[in-house]
Amino acid sequence: MPRIDSASSQREGDEIEILTFAGGPFVQNTLLVVCEDGRTGLLIDPGAATPEALAAARERELEIAALLLTHAHVDHVDGIPAAKAETGAPIHLHPLDQPLYDNAVEWAAFFGVPCDPLPPPDVELEPGVNLSFGGSEFEVVFVPGHAPGHVMFVSTSHPLAIVGDVIFRGSIGRTDLPNSNYGVLMESIRSHVLTLPAETRLYPGHGPETNVGLERGTNPFLLHLNGSRWA
Ligand SMILES: [Zn+2]
Ligand SMILES: [Zn+2]
Repeated sequence: MPRIDSASSQREGDEIEILTFAGGPFVQNTLLVVCEDGRTGLLIDPGAATPEALAAARERELEIAALLLTHAHVDHVDGIPAAKAETGAPIHLHPLDQPLYDNAVEWAAFFGVPCDPLPPPDVELEPGVNLSFGGSEFEVVFVPGHAPGHVMFVSTSHPLAIVGDVIFRGSIGRTDLPNSNYGVLMESIRSHVLTLPAETRLYPGHGPETNVGLERGTNPFLLHLNGSRWA
């Protein structure tokens, strides 16, 4: 069963809503972002629970403006064929994850999960560039380490960030995979995640949401970074 979380900002008439649909053997989170205009939707990392996310988008009569990928591990892209077929929305991917994307079907076979061939990405994500959809704006931030072309999407108007597999509640992304790098991941977390305001909500690719302050204080994988190095 998909798990659905909903979070709204406190600001009246200026809401952004993030619905989380968890599914598949990796219990991956497919996110449906409802933009501030209330009519535009974004699908982020369409994985195994993509059918449930698409159903929610239909129910709310959202127009899906983009399929955004934090990275191209197979559990984050195996819903792309269905999402693209239904919405026709452009697929955004950082070019350094193109090789992973191109091999998704092989990776799926390796893990024993189904994955149809993926349509090619439409847009190259560019770090430092802001993406605007339906009155909501996100900065694309380059956070490699778990995957070579991993990015996160940081709201420019609300304290929230969609972080993929960089950091989880009480944990960090795997770095035992091909093309992963522990040192690079730690530097991404130290310089780009922990430097966000403490109240920033983090929406990860697996598990529950968390926030920067909680992870600074309690994440066992980050305690050695203590000493206000992110101040
Ligand atoms: Zn991953
Ligand atoms: Zn993942």
